[in-house]
Amino acid sequence: MIDLHVHTNVSDGQFSPAETVNIAAETGVRILSITDHDTTAGVREGLEAAGRAGITLIPGIELSTDHHNELHILGYFIDIDNPKLIAASNGFGEEREERAERIFKYLWGKGVNITEESVYRHAAHSRLSRTHFAKALIEAGYITDFADGFRKYLSNGEFKLIDSPKYSAGECIDLIRGAGGAAVLAHPYTLYEDAAGLERIVRELKAAGLAGIECYYSSHSRKQTALYLALAAEIGLVATAGSDFHGIYVRPGVSIGTGTGRLNFTDESVVEELYKAR
Ligand code: AMP
Ligand code: MN
Ligand code: MN
Ligand code: MN
Repeated sequence: MIDLHVHTNVSDGQFSPAETVNIAAETGVRILSITDHDTTAGVREGLEAAGRAGITLIPGIELSTDHHNELHILGYFIDIDNPKLIAASNGFGEEREERAERIFKYLWGKGVNITEESVYRHAAHSRLSRTHFAKALIEAGYITDFADGFRKYLSNGEFKLIDSPKYSAGECIDLIRGAGGAAVLAHPYTLYEDAAGLERIVRELKAAGLAGIECYYSSHSRKQTALYLALAAEIGLVATAGSDFHGIYVRPGVSIGTGTGRLNFTDESVVEELYKAR
């Protein structure tokens, strides 16, 4: 199996990079990419674990863009020592810290009494993510689950006003390609575009250097996957596969390699194509 999209506790996943690699190997994944949000800080540990487990680890990253819906760009085969990428990643981390202060003030202003400690406790190995706030909100009884929390507090219009500034998709693609990597559009369904709108955006991204599109994804329906595959074939993009595994909190029911049950992607030629497309 191949899984090109997983998170570790270096961003908002549950397990350390080594644990994540070991779970992948035990599940039968032969080629894995760790794609933490904004950072490649878990890749080195992942590579060592992959060497021990006898599987291939592709250095990866996932970047959020300034698009009004969630337009995320995955980067593969990147040089984790690239100075520009490291500088940008450090900048994203600082933005996260400043945003965390704004999120606490925002929540406290709504009468939500959570302590800083109750949030930081969930992010021992990473900068604060909205998922860490969501965990603290669940524990304190303010929300029932993640979907509820994001709807109520963490992805509404009011939240967007305090969110961090993001790079444009073109800047993210440049950053990834500048570090020797191939850029791929993550989970295209989160653009919430119809077929024509999606095609327009994907053509723009391709012109900006996009190499692939994540056609196979845990929560894509068969119909969505078919649409994205047709788009990839038409525009000339590599069709990739990823679970977006985070562990039990963020996407309960999503496993490494198999996703929600039927991901099971095995076509290794896709990885070669992606490598050539850098
Ligand atoms: P951040 O990078 O701090 O803005 O947090 C974004 C993360 O929150 C995403 O990577 C997802 O893991 C998670 N997330 C976003 N929206 C939702 C949602 N509706 N339900 C659950 N998790 C979500
Ligand atoms: Mn996440
Ligand atoms: Mn994403
Ligand atoms: Mn992801």
